[in-house]
Amino acid sequence: MTAATSDAFVFFGATGDLAYKQIFPALQGLIHADNFDIPIIGVARSDWNLERLRERARASLRAHGGIHRKAADKLCRLLQFVNGDYNDPATFAHLRECLGKARHPLHYLAIPPSMFETVVKGLDAAGCARGARVVVEKPFGRDLKSARELNRVLHRFFDEHDIFRIDHYLGKEPVQNLLYFRFANSLLEPIWNRNHIASMQITMAEDFGIEGRGKFYDEVGAIRDVVQNHMLQVLALLTMGAPVDRSSDAMRDEKLRLFRSMRPLEAGDVVRGQFDGYHHEPGVARSSKVETFAALRIRMDTWRWAGVPFFIRAGKRLPVKCTEVLVRLKNPPQQVFDGVPGDGAVNFFRFRLSPDVVISLGARVKQPGEAMRGHPVELVAHRNIRAARAPYERLLGDAIQGDSVLFTRDDCVEEAWRVLDPILGNKVPVHKYKPGTWGPKQADALIADAGGWNDPRLEPPPGNGK
Ligand code: NDP
Repeated sequence: MTAATSDAFVFFGATGDLAYKQIFPALQGLIHADNFDIPIIGVARSDWNLERLRERARASLRAHGGIHRKAADKLCRLLQFVNGDYNDPATFAHLRECLGKARHPLHYLAIPPSMFETVVKGLDAAGCARGARVVVEKPFGRDLKSARELNRVLHRFFDEHDIFRIDHYLGKEPVQNLLYFRFANSLLEPIWNRNHIASMQITMAEDFGIEGRGKFYDEVGAIRDVVQNHMLQVLALLTMGAPVDRSSDAMRDEKLRLFRSMRPLEAGDVVRGQFDGYHHEPGVARSSKVETFAALRIRMDTWRWAGVPFFIRAGKRLPVKCTEVLVRLKNPPQQVFDGVPGDGAVNFFRFRLSPDVVISLGARVKQPGEAMRGHPVELVAHRNIRAARAPYERLLGDAIQGDSVLFTRDDCVEEAWRVLDPILGNKVPVHKYKPGTWGPKQADALIADAGGWNDPRLEPPPGNGK
């Protein structure tokens, strides 16, 4: 059975930050590329009118990617505005009127999670949930218990295949390329296991702080903000088995098997950090122990991965803005040549996901001359792909078509929380670090036995033979 295409797009939180930064630009892109032509209805409590929402849309496009005149005009023409309190049935009655003949609306909840239940109840009571889809933003819950509760609430009104839990990281071209590169080639799979791989690490470094979002960030922290969703999803794409086909369930079944194999974290697997000066950010509690940096060690109990340590490091105010994966291969079993390091630095794969895209293989080659001496090189397989579509545009387009491959399923999101649940909150101490450094020193000890952290550098790697 093919899924019906959504015939109206409704977004709650139309006056908010996410709508401004992402939703209006994505809608313009969809109109431009796909000639998207369905009612677009913004809903908000603020006492705005349609003209003000149109002005906001134009301001958003100017600030985020630029105005494409024809598509922007059409976006403003398609826009409608519903103003009202989410506890008031009249708001949803008005929405029902605006939906007109639409039978399969898509409702995007770009609002604080505390409002999700109120809104889905309102949609149901007004008959707006029947035949509809719902898109829910991250973070999906705060822990395992709240994620289960949120799933329970959503399932009261929507079938699982009509719920789209968005994680925009999955819409990024280089992230999708991880899966493609693994399974569109035959070279990796034979060595992609405990016999050949010594360790894997993912670093998501941001060189900026919390940029005025102190109130939001101080309730969340790095583990909930980026590790539970983005980083675990990247780890799953790097380590899951091959899906039997490209269907959303085949893809998500493999991810689920992988998440199920992860051991719940213990305090010794985690280092938390907070940059000096965080307390002075607006919206942050003076006594806050929320982490702006986290380093974690993950283990998986599978035949493929038993004994291989996986590391994740994510932080704010680090030296660069860069996301990179390093997969270290085991050393050659015998030292035939002098000077070959024995610390796991000989062979590796490096996948840079941002700001540019690099897939490289690290190896040693012989230096010219009589002596059998070598030096390290990186064979760069691929770099600087520009995404055809911004992640939000891609994901909203998929949700409108009912394609859930790049969205997270209920069981996967709960399994990811199960792994992190034991170390959430303040169970692990938080260490200070200086802005512009790679986080607290304690994070180095976590990975010392696996060759240490790879600190991404933004200049081209030295000695790459060019
Ligand atoms: P905002 O804080 O900007 O809120 C969005 C809108 O929701 C506001 O404009 C407000 O509109 C409405 N709102 C706020 N509080 C309440 C309330 N108590 N009751 C009813 N309505 C309320 O949030 P964002 O736009 O930043 O985020 C929206 C969602 O997207 C959140 O779930 C967030 O976690 C998620 N998200 C946001 C990202 C971002 O970059 N901003 C990134 C990833 C996820 P009005 O008062 O006019 O109704």
